[in-house]
Amino acid sequence: MTRELWLEAHSYLRPVADLSAQVDRAAAGIEILDARNPNWDEYRPDFLAGVPLLSSAEAGVDLEPGGRMAAALLEKLASETSPESLVAEARALDADLRRAPNVPRRIADFLLGDETLAPPFPGLLRYLAWTATTRFLGPVVSAFDAWRDEDRWLRRYCPTCGSLPAMAQLVGAEHGRKRLLSCGCCGTRWQFKRTHCPFCDTDSQRLASINIDGESGLRIDHCESCSGYLKTYNGEGNEALLLSDWSSLHLDLIAHDRGLKRLAASLYEFEPARHAAH
Ligand SMILES: [Zn+2]
Ligand SMILES: [Zn+2]
Repeated sequence: MTRELWLEAHSYLRPVADLSAQVDRAAAGIEILDARNPNWDEYRPDFLAGVPLLSSAEAGVDLEPGGRMAAALLEKLASETSPESLVAEARALDADLRRAPNVPRRIADFLLGDETLAPPFPGLLRYLAWTATTRFLGPVVSAFDAWRDEDRWLRRYCPTCGSLPAMAQLVGAEHGRKRLLSCGCCGTRWQFKRTHCPFCDTDSQRLASINIDGESGLRIDHCESCSGYLKTYNGEGNEALLLSDWSSLHLDLIAHDRGLKRLAASLYEFEPARHAAH
């Protein structure tokens, strides 16, 4: 399944796809700064205690260069000419952030949950800043995947950045099938118990599923205790497209119509369709 075929079948997703492509293009032009290698031995006790990698002082990964890349991306979008509303919001954000020193540090802290930064468009800043920072963190996330003993984590939040999952994926053969949770912020995928709800942490024995016709292995798994749901990709090979969250925003509408609640983290809650309307 290619992005273009997907968009032919789901033309209402085109505005958000265009926005995402524009931001990705701008981000691709930003210099990728080097991330410090985590100190794995020092980090191990924190890992076992459930402290995400980026929140561990022992691991020593500094997100500040990611914040610098985010500031550069913001500046770049603020200097473009269209789409008008995205550019206007990027300019307002850029101007607001520059009123105080240490912009990169403040962006990095904001991504890790510091609430002292109150930017005019927090959803847009979060989206742009994670888009830039993910490029910075790529090598760290890969090294963490290789180092991490999945059986020692099995927590409902991301082992790298601490966010709740945006989506889930089922991988492997029928017996021994595993469920991975997918972080919409930093891109980490980690293992979680098959039947546990990542939102209320109850073991429902079996999550209820809604299958959607013609959706290439995407379905909605939901919890009968808290009504939270996770869009789930029941396949392998099309992760970049099908775990991107924006490519299945229509599933969120179906879930909403069924009275389910989006408790999953999303970077697409800033009315993206409005940006792309111009
Ligand atoms: Zn994450
Ligand atoms: Zn639940």
